[in-house]
Amino acid sequence: MIVSEYFGLNVFNKAQMQARLPKEIYDQVIYAEKNGGGISNECADIVAKAMMDWAMERGATHYTHWFLPLTGITAEKHDAFISAPDLMGKTIEKLTGKQLIRGESDASSFPSGGLRATHYARGYTAWDMTSPAFVKEMSCGTILCIPTLFFSYHGEALDNKTPLLRSMDALSQQALRIVRLFGDRDAKKIIPSVGAEQEYFIVDREKYLKRRDLIYTGRTLFGAPAPKGQELEDQYFGVIRERVGRFMADLNTELWRMGIAATTQHNEVAPGQHELAPIHCTCNVAVDHNQLTMETMKRVAGKHDLVCLLHEKPFEGVNGSGKHNNWSISTDTGKNLLNPGETPNNNLQFLLVLSCIIKAVDCHADLLRVSSACAGNDQRLGADEAPPAIISIFLGKQLEDVVQQIVLNGTAADCLTDGQLDTGVSTLPVIKRDAADRNRTSPFAFTGNKFEFRMVGSSDCIANSNTVLNTIVAEAFCEAADVLEKSCNVATETKKLIAENLRDHSRVIFSGNGYSAQWIEEAAQRGLPNLSSMVSSIPSLTTEKSVRLFGQFGVYTKAELESRSEILYETYAKVKCIEAKTMLHMASKHYIPSVVRYSTRLADSVCKVRSACPEADITVQQELLKKTCALLRRANDALAVLEKSVENSNGVECLREMANYCHDVIAPAMRALRQPIDQLELIVDKDIWPVPTYGDLMFEV
Ligand code: ADP
Ligand code: MG
Repeated sequence: MIVSEYFGLNVFNKAQMQARLPKEIYDQVIYAEKNGGGISNECADIVAKAMMDWAMERGATHYTHWFLPLTGITAEKHDAFISAPDLMGKTIEKLTGKQLIRGESDASSFPSGGLRATHYARGYTAWDMTSPAFVKEMSCGTILCIPTLFFSYHGEALDNKTPLLRSMDALSQQALRIVRLFGDRDAKKIIPSVGAEQEYFIVDREKYLKRRDLIYTGRTLFGAPAPKGQELEDQYFGVIRERVGRFMADLNTELWRMGIAATTQHNEVAPGQHELAPIHCTCNVAVDHNQLTMETMKRVAGKHDLVCLLHEKPFEGVNGSGKHNNWSISTDTGKNLLNPGETPNNNLQFLLVLSCIIKAVDCHADLLRVSSACAGNDQRLGADEAPPAIISIFLGKQLEDVVQQIVLNGTAADCLTDGQLDTGVSTLPVIKRDAADRNRTSPFAFTGNKFEFRMVGSSDCIANSNTVLNTIVAEAFCEAADVLEKSCNVATETKKLIAENLRDHSRVIFSGNGYSAQWIEEAAQRGLPNLSSMVSSIPSLTTEKSVRLFGQFGVYTKAELESRSEILYETYAKVKCIEAKTMLHMASKHYIPSVVRYSTRLADSVCKVRSACPEADITVQQELLKKTCALLRRANDALAVLEKSVENSNGVECLREMANYCHDVIAPAMRALRQPIDQLELIVDKDIWPVPTYGDLMFEV
């Protein structure tokens, strides 16, 4: 079958609704999706029945309210369509409008950050009509998934989706004010579009199962570098290995069936690392799609006896994985506000939008930083191959030049053009060169008609970053509109405002090498925040500035922000403790016993060779034995220190303190234990070493 014949087959999309619903019901649903306000109970019953009939045709036996709790992953509880058996023992399939629209569940086992005391356990899920229902084919059955929002008894958001939708509303309202200033009367809504490039690693399942660190934490906590890493640059865009290729083909098919437009696949920089990118779509749908993509990657990998690692840094010494969050904003009539046109210097609306985004990013760099903070990303950010923890903007030569002219003169008289590429090959047709080059090292880069936020971790939910992006830009638009709507001469005032925004905030623009040490110094001189760790970034969420911003646009209440910061501290501490305990387990149960066996083997050799041939040179065995025993000593001492520091953490009650303790005490103790063990790996016989090595994991698939 060709792709277009089965693309979206598992989605209850508009075409399905239109075909299966009476016209007036379909119209009600479409109206409610666009304008809110919900649908009547009678209407909901009809939609539910049609949705169930469709799902059953696709083989579904159950439905679930599918949501994004604050665990960062998705949640689902399956309920069969069957009704209670009647007197004759017969059942019928049923999904009522009420079941479709609202679910009530015990929320006490989901993170709430103190928003909900355990005895007020009720949580509600509510149908999010803006994201289509779909069926998921799994070994436990085919399940109808109804995307929902999740909130507490008092209406506080307990998920990542509710604030995202609120931020999209805020952005739309404020951006509409901007386009109105430029005469657009047709647009009714402004919609952010997102395409999330997803990086991941693939390893062999059998080898994976031999490593407790991968099983419990998703990353290797020990491991010496393999003789070959990524230095030859032969992996990036290289030929895809057959076994991985079969996985990718299978993955694409599953994603396409669920209406996810997976389009790009390639090998990434590190050995064993790959990327998948979908075609961009409406922000909240892109969030759902990215969650589903991650989940499907893991499931499909299993079918091929592979494991997909979504951790930000599964292996030390080679590139980690991120998610490039491509973001743009368009009118519902299809005009992209980030399209610079041929001559951006004359495109006043574009320049205003651009200057507002620059202002937003500069004013709220701390919020963007915390939106991409997760324990795994601490390992990746600033590791010479990922953006540093400092937020800066790359605009490209053309726009940077325009910005410079405006900063200096108030206007930009001209702009650099694209030009032609001189390849020196006479048989090649003329090739156009883009007006701007790329910069891989920038965390926030303008790439043609979108911004690319590259800080997000590969395992993270992209909802948070987009919530922040939408809200901070809404604020900058609002401030601009407040001034310009009052003005008698909009064009002159706009130019003034653009220059003002750019003058005040151009410190955040940087086109140099973001990986370099000089940049860290220069950024400090410019006064840009450098929140190098997750724990140092969390306080940004609850500053007065943040509470005011999110409160003004109705995205988060103060209580919601406080709860999220609690959850971040708690999650960080828990992740670190699991990692530390896994290290203790591996060191005492796997590595140290193996090293003891190896040293015994050496000692045996020393004794046996000496008695068999007293004049033989046994200094090699002796040196090895000495070196091994010295490292063993260091490992055992470090083990004791880590053990003690984990034990001491039991007394820490405050979550913030606990997270800081994990960062300041436990993490260094973990690094100290890793060092001697990694050195031992390079000495000890391969047949005695208890776990697969970096070479085995990254190169043998
Ligand atoms: P690159 O990042 O290498 O330039 P692409 O241009 O193919 O690669 O874009 C990468 C991602 O950006 C894809 O997911 C793509 O759908 C998405 N994208 C492209 N245009 C836009 C846009 N206007 N808004 C949001 N995302 C976009
Ligand atoms: Mg990209």
